[in-house]
Amino acid sequence: MPAHPMLSRLTTCLIAAGLALGALASPLAAEERPAKELFGAKRLPAQLAASPYGSYAKGCIAGAVAIPTDGPAWQAMRLSRNRRWGHPDMIALLERFSQDAQQLGWPGLLLGDISQPRGGPMLSGHASHQVGLDADIWFTPMPDQRLSAAEREKLPFTSMLDKRKFLTVDSRRWTATHARLVMKAASYPQVDRVFVNPAIKKKLCETWQGDRSLLGKVRPIYGHDEHFHIRIKCPEGASGCKPQARVPAGDGCDASLAWWFTKEPWAKPKPKKDAKPVKPWYVKMSDLPKACRTVLAGPSPASEEEVTWQGNGGVSTALAFSGNGGDAGRTIESVIAADTMLPAIGPIPITRPFQ
Ligand SMILES: [Zn+2]
Repeated sequence: MPAHPMLSRLTTCLIAAGLALGALASPLAAEERPAKELFGAKRLPAQLAASPYGSYAKGCIAGAVAIPTDGPAWQAMRLSRNRRWGHPDMIALLERFSQDAQQLGWPGLLLGDISQPRGGPMLSGHASHQVGLDADIWFTPMPDQRLSAAEREKLPFTSMLDKRKFLTVDSRRWTATHARLVMKAASYPQVDRVFVNPAIKKKLCETWQGDRSLLGKVRPIYGHDEHFHIRIKCPEGASGCKPQARVPAGDGCDASLAWWFTKEPWAKPKPKKDAKPVKPWYVKMSDLPKACRTVLAGPSPASEEEVTWQGNGGVSTALAFSGNGGDAGRTIESVIAADTMLPAIGPIPITRPFQ
């Protein structure tokens, strides 16, 4: 939901007021403040050797680079969120993937969130995407024209699901090229997992004629019906990067997928009798790897251009968002909602069929 400019400004004010109070009235140490406020406030990366620290859902990144807003085969979306930052390996892969996508007949990639400039927890949205090794790709193909910054804020997401049915791919929208695109992403050796909606995974299980062993990397998860999510492995030699367990052997077209088509994953959690109210919980600096303090305090480059990826395509970084202070991605609701602990992977589904 795009934020109303007033709301955005108000949010900015609230955040600013919070920071001011933190600094003056109650000297809340940086250690105790939500880490998402500290990382969310950084506009540029830490100019240090590129390295992820911690895990996909609890960590940060030094030396991130930005993917340019435009490339020969991609356009970055929702620029105001300032989440075009990733490990150089991730950015290089996205560039390569965009070219391979065109070879498949896909017009080009619309890029969603990668990470914040220094990674870390976010004020809104994802639980993962914290170490510059996760990237979201829209299921909407790139249009022929170059979108304006405002269009990139507003272009609506298109779900691949048929909303009239339970957890079913909409055959009017989903094409064989969508399938090839997802499977191409899974084919790169450095890709650890590709997250899609369970209905999309089921569709691939039923229809994929290529290498079935790659299907194991395609993981069903809530949401991910208007975009898919590419996760790469910890880069070689990145000792501070905590890898995820290996995906189980096989194509995953099994009981683990069937579970998603039962009521269990969609049922409202039953309140336990005599359960104490859960205190709001947020990640603090002390919950993150120690290196993240260095990342947070690290020197900034002189400009964004200096740390923008210069791949082999002619690139433009000119399309900087200048709408309303770069806060359009946040709403008061999302800031409040982000205060609750999210599951380790992916957003919570918006529609719950059995509710
Ligand atoms: Zn994602």
